[in-house]
Amino acid sequence: MTLLQITRKFRTQGQCLSHLMKTRWPEGVTCSRCGSRIISRISTRDKFECARCEYQFTAPAGTIFHKTYIPLPKWFLAIYLMNSGREISVNQLSRDLSLPYKTAWSMAQRIRSEMKNQEFTKLAGLFVN
Ligand SMILES: [Zn+2]
Repeated sequence: MTLLQITRKFRTQGQCLSHLMKTRWPEGVTCSRCGSRIISRISTRDKFECARCEYQFTAPAGTIFHKTYIPLPKWFLAIYLMNSGREISVNQLSRDLSLPYKTAWSMAQRIRSEMKNQEFTKLAGLFVN
């Protein structure tokens, strides 16, 4: 995928969320606590609720995107840039994403440490191919 494709495909939070859903749950949303597939969507808050155990969760829960104030399009772009095969400095990342250096630094740390996580590389792999 090219940079242009990435920025078009993942322009909004909603586009990123639906990509995250498809990657995490290719067979349909599944409860991360009990594995049930009978899930209702609490549409106003992008939240899901399990009909069996009443567990409430979101698509980013349990990923590096959980509880972050950084918009998902910036995360996706950061992952793309860090996987493009070229070395990218934190300074560059901070400029490209219009984020403070400290924020870019902690994103880069989290992305690097997640590279070993299979679910994450599946997600990142989609960006690179
Ligand atoms: Zn459940």
